[in-house]
Amino acid sequence: MFVTFEGGDGVGKTTQAALLEEWLTDAGRTVVRTREPGGTEVGVLIRDIVLHHRGEVAARAEALLYAADRAHHVETLVRPALVRGDVVIQDRYLDSSVAYQGAGRVLGRDEVRQLSLWATEGLLPDVTVLLDLDPATARARLDADDKPFDRLEAEKEHFHARVREEFLALAAAEPARFLVLDAARPADELAAAVREHVAALLA
Ligand code: C5P
Ligand code: MG
Repeated sequence: MFVTFEGGDGVGKTTQAALLEEWLTDAGRTVVRTREPGGTEVGVLIRDIVLHHRGEVAARAEALLYAADRAHHVETLVRPALVRGDVVIQDRYLDSSVAYQGAGRVLGRDEVRQLSLWATEGLLPDVTVLLDLDPATARARLDADDKPFDRLEAEKEHFHARVREEFLALAAAEPARFLVLDAARPADELAAAVREHVAALLA
């Protein structure tokens, strides 16, 4: 089973991915928890380019770098794990590219989605948990946790508004794949909702 967590910066994806991993591991499942960008050695190099050379990289080149990271990640780590029967829990996947590069950078949602589908030979998650939160609240949270703002610092509010709207539109278009949760709720409540959803699918 392939589970992805999506949403803007600071919504709690990493926390929820860790909680789901803990629960599934306790339940005796073999879990591979990973992330994009940067889930492989090659991916760490690509992550360095896209995160630390932001602004220098042309938007289309950035989209291709995310797609390259994803292609390598899927072929070398994610697909082999799924073939073994492991549960893969992943922080961000192709919906992030559609939201950030497609909508945020206005490169075109369909084009960016097609690029990702080509890169991954069409691999889609079984479940995508969308943690939805307004960008101002997310930023306040990152601030409180003393975490870097990433994009929130560097870019304008309307960028994050477009990203959020696109995530919600993606979820509305594929209701069978998405579980949309209000990320303003307490982490333990969110974790319980995720567990319930995943348990039903594993049963
Ligand atoms: O998920 P994580 O916080 O590790 O993402 C790192 C940064 O990369 C975030 O600031 C996110 O906004 C950005 N990102 C992006 N486009 C993607 C995936 C992530 O701009 N497709
Ligand atoms: Mg995170």
